[in-house]
Amino acid sequence: MSSGSRLDAYVERYAARTRGMTASEIRALFAVASRPEVVSLAGGMPNISGLALDAVADTIHDLVLERGTVAMQYGSGQGDPTLREQICEVMRLEGIAAHPDDVVVTVGSQQALDLVTRIFCDPGDVVLAEAPSYVGALGTFRAFQAEVVHVAMDSDGLVPDNLRAALAAVRAAGRRAKFLYTIPNHHNPAGVTLSRDRREEILAIAAEADLLVLEDNPYGLLGFDEAPLPALRALREDGVIYLGSFSKTFAPGFRVGWVLAPHAVREKLVLAQESATLCPPAFSQMAISAYLAGHDWQGQIKDFREMYRQRRDAMLAALADLMPEGTGWTRPSGGFYVWLELPEGLDAKAMLPRAVTNRVAYVPGTAFYADGLGSRFMRLSYCYPTPERIREGVRRLAQVLETELELHATFGETSGLGPAHEEQPGLTAPGPETS
Ligand code: PMP
Repeated sequence: MSSGSRLDAYVERYAARTRGMTASEIRALFAVASRPEVVSLAGGMPNISGLALDAVADTIHDLVLERGTVAMQYGSGQGDPTLREQICEVMRLEGIAAHPDDVVVTVGSQQALDLVTRIFCDPGDVVLAEAPSYVGALGTFRAFQAEVVHVAMDSDGLVPDNLRAALAAVRAAGRRAKFLYTIPNHHNPAGVTLSRDRREEILAIAAEADLLVLEDNPYGLLGFDEAPLPALRALREDGVIYLGSFSKTFAPGFRVGWVLAPHAVREKLVLAQESATLCPPAFSQMAISAYLAGHDWQGQIKDFREMYRQRRDAMLAALADLMPEGTGWTRPSGGFYVWLELPEGLDAKAMLPRAVTNRVAYVPGTAFYADGLGSRFMRLSYCYPTPERIREGVRRLAQVLETELELHATFGETSGLGPAHEEQPGLTAPGPETS
């Protein structure tokens, strides 16, 4: 190794904001978790095997032959105008009336999170976010040195009184929250959905407090039972910035998402987008645009929903059959995730090495909190493995819990008893054994 690549030669030159950019402590375990013998309930990868690949192949073949010189050229910083019109059609399914001029295409909704945080947050600014919240958003907020204040949920999503209390606490500290980051539908990681009534109430609280709402909605069309609830942006136009994505309803490899923002904000977002990427990828946008125009994309989403519904059913059935008493979990009505609460005394992060040895992986709850809480929780994803593998994964996990509980009963603590176990009342419901 040359002396030029010594770590300490660079560390002192890094900008202060890089201090928040740290690798997840569970990253090393993920290498092990991706071995074929391990059932991974950890990753949130969409199940692309459910996509009609021949249809996509035809679309891309024709795109290259017929419009390749445009598709492989630079494009508009705001995004392809035809795709922006189609995005408005997609959003209409959740009650949103929008103009294509107010849509900015991004490199996945992850980049949308980056751009919005970039234009609103200075170091030390407060962002309100559900407890728990999406790990990728927490990483972005950290990268911009924003401070996350969590707001607890229950099985109906964000609790309005808790939002009022958080706003009051922030105000009492002489500070102001820049925005509320929320995932109203099929929450990642909590697997809950904000109820219809609460949508109005949360919006009313935000309006009264002059609080901007950042609505992140990649899973809204992946509900299993009923028609989607209206998006927050459908109920209120002003003061809501909406993020959408094709990652879960089509495929994440294209890296296409979008922001729908009030007109005044849209211009700043385009400038931020231009400085980040010049323009979102023309090829990906035109491929998605051609796919939407030429294929039954709503039928494809229906197929995805059915595939994920079967996997959700497999996971809930296995949890009900196999989990020890004292374990609770959420019952998602869509999306990819179940949020599981361990019996008292157990710690999800400390238990993970034992779980991986028993060939099952999950994400410990602490990953989804900015403040180190969540030790008694874990996220289980059912999107990727087959229903049979899901059941086997839950069986292995239940064995690990049984062992940990025995250790806890014998020694008063397990291999993994962590810090104080915070209460999170109401988010998970007890399994049938305890109800
Ligand atoms: N928001 C949430 C809640 C997510 O779960 C994800 C992906 N897991 C994203 C945003 C980012 O997705 P993408 O960049 O692929 O659109």
